[in-house]
Amino acid sequence: MNQRTERATKSGRRVGVFGGTFDPPHIGHLVAAIDAQQELDLDVVLLVVANVPWQKLGQREISSAEDRLAMVRAAVDDRPGIEVSEAEIARGGHSYTADTLAGMRADRPADDLFVILGNDAAAGFATWERHEEVAELATLVVVDRPGTPTPIDDGFDWTRIDIPELEISSTELRQRVSEGRSIDYLTPPAVVTCIAERGLYV
Ligand code: NAP
Repeated sequence: MNQRTERATKSGRRVGVFGGTFDPPHIGHLVAAIDAQQELDLDVVLLVVANVPWQKLGQREISSAEDRLAMVRAAVDDRPGIEVSEAEIARGGHSYTADTLAGMRADRPADDLFVILGNDAAAGFATWERHEEVAELATLVVVDRPGTPTPIDDGFDWTRIDIPELEISSTELRQRVSEGRSIDYLTPPAVVTCIAERGLYV
């Protein structure tokens, strides 16, 4: 744990910011959020649903923000310490993490913010809009899966957390649904129901 991570907040909360497209959410996301919460002793981890994940535009059709929000709500249910944030959806437009953190800082200046990223997201951090501002506003955390360590930009101060290898992706879940295969146990039952009710990925 680095010096910034160890710093105790006087009156604010320790808040994890785990953003994603979540199309759909799955147990890999949830285990990463819970491990980060426990390892860093966070008061809460916010699953921040991206409104428009601008770097994914043109690659494939992305489910509506409303559908993705409903799935993340279903995934989290009422597990203490994990919450869903609609901040990026409420703001509208392209989702830039720098704007999200600035909003959180303005609302609750005493909070300590921790941005939580998976391997691939961390490897692409330097391509983010105003990423220097993100690194200023929050401690950067990468949840490292076993194997080759993530090649991250060492110009920034990263905290690494080891999490179990759960080789599961949203891409795989979408593929399985489109082929009529089960996604049971890869995501919570409420998400399976939500996907079926909304007719997603068929
Ligand atoms: P995503 O595909 O839904 O993934 C969300 C997070 O979960 C990512 O960090 C991802 O890391 C991680 N993850 C996925 N599967 C996992 C597994 N099996 N085990 C552990 N972790 C897993 O979301 P995304 O589209 O990559 O977006 C991630 C965040 O980056 C969002 O908040 C987005 O807004 C932000 N972002 C911001 C900018 C900007 O300009 N500010 C640009 C790009 C992205 P992996 O990538 O390693 O799978």
